[in-house]
Amino acid sequence: MGLILNPRAFDTVFMQIIQIGNMPDFVESVTSHRARLLEALFVVLVGSCAACAQAGDKNVYDVEYHAEFLPAEGEALVTLEVGQDNGLLRELNFDVPEQRYSDFRGSGSLRRDGSRVIWSVPPRGGQLTYRVLVNQLRGNAHDALITGNWAVLRLDDLFPPARSRSDVGSYSSASLTLSGPAEWSFETGYGRVDTAVQVVNPDRRFVRPVGWLVAGELGVRRSEIAERQIVVAAPTGESFRRMDILAFLNWTLPDLVSLLPTFPDQFLVAGGNRDMWRGALSGPNSIYLHPDRPLISENGTSTLLHELVHVAMPDPPAQGDDWIAEGLAEYYSLTVLRRSGGISQHRFESAFLKLKAWAERDNGQLADPSTGANTAFATLMFRDLDRELQAAGSGLDPIVAQFFADRQINRHRLRDLVENALAGPSKVLQNVMPAH
Ligand SMILES: [Zn+2]
Repeated sequence: MGLILNPRAFDTVFMQIIQIGNMPDFVESVTSHRARLLEALFVVLVGSCAACAQAGDKNVYDVEYHAEFLPAEGEALVTLEVGQDNGLLRELNFDVPEQRYSDFRGSGSLRRDGSRVIWSVPPRGGQLTYRVLVNQLRGNAHDALITGNWAVLRLDDLFPPARSRSDVGSYSSASLTLSGPAEWSFETGYGRVDTAVQVVNPDRRFVRPVGWLVAGELGVRRSEIAERQIVVAAPTGESFRRMDILAFLNWTLPDLVSLLPTFPDQFLVAGGNRDMWRGALSGPNSIYLHPDRPLISENGTSTLLHELVHVAMPDPPAQGDDWIAEGLAEYYSLTVLRRSGGISQHRFESAFLKLKAWAERDNGQLADPSTGANTAFATLMFRDLDRELQAAGSGLDPIVAQFFADRQINRHRLRDLVENALAGPSKVLQNVMPAH
């Protein structure tokens, strides 16, 4: 069932067939033939998979997530269907502010308590529906936007976090389907959603779809880079430079992945349009990027690479330790650019001089949240730490790889790993972090 569980495997096979057919390089749009072929495969395979999970393991309940985009209303109509026959899942308690999430209906009992909605799930399963206002401002620009032809947002916006109450040892088997106007297609960090795709997160008992989503009339490019399935997708006609991004990833991702093997197997770069938030934002399996954002800024730093380091980081940092996430993201975005030949040694050094001037001018320090001069300070600290480790015959690379693999992103674990490599305390860390 290993291959069957992975719809992307079929997607890749299908793309290879198309490429053999003398179309090695093209902006893809959904063809009805392709959609029908994949649908025929997945209806059978995903359907049977969910059924066998349910039949084979008495601790598993099914959750089918669906969202239908309604561009004329600026909304999505969401449905959660819970399949169970033994009452494993008893309650879902959603964080759903009223101004964005409305019209809740469901089997079993439902009640709203402030910004939360609590659904008592019937013992033999049931259905919950609600509406989501898609557009969302971040500062003065949208980080979620729907137009007549497309939508860019996070799946987290459609399926917000929920506390679950369920039997001890039980867990969900989750799948995702999406729909909208006839000509729309859907790209996510789980792959293209033609029919049901499995949503997997081994860390969670109650799994929900997360990460960026691009829906609508799309231009899409796919590639395998560093053994990762990469998709760059954006609405057509919005000047998103997919091939520039793919070339940049071909240039830098192999170095990044060999340094940080925790980078996910599937990854989506989601492009918005010029009216959207003018930056880059990472999700667990995807990033959003504004079309005007340079791949490398004039000062030698790269927002895209910075966000890619965040993507390789398996968990958010511990409270108080955001400087670790931001400092490492900036340090390794510069380092990977230098190693891959994207910037010269001279520019690499000059980028650090600018960070130093910034940190000194604005009194940068280790901070949470970390931005601006504080992140500049943390970046320089990691450079000093790398030098200290290299002088002792080690280096920061293996420590960061281990740090990410251990999934304990906090200052104590960082110090332990560094002291272990140095066989003693680190002068650099002692300067910025008082001893135990
Ligand atoms: Zn960052």
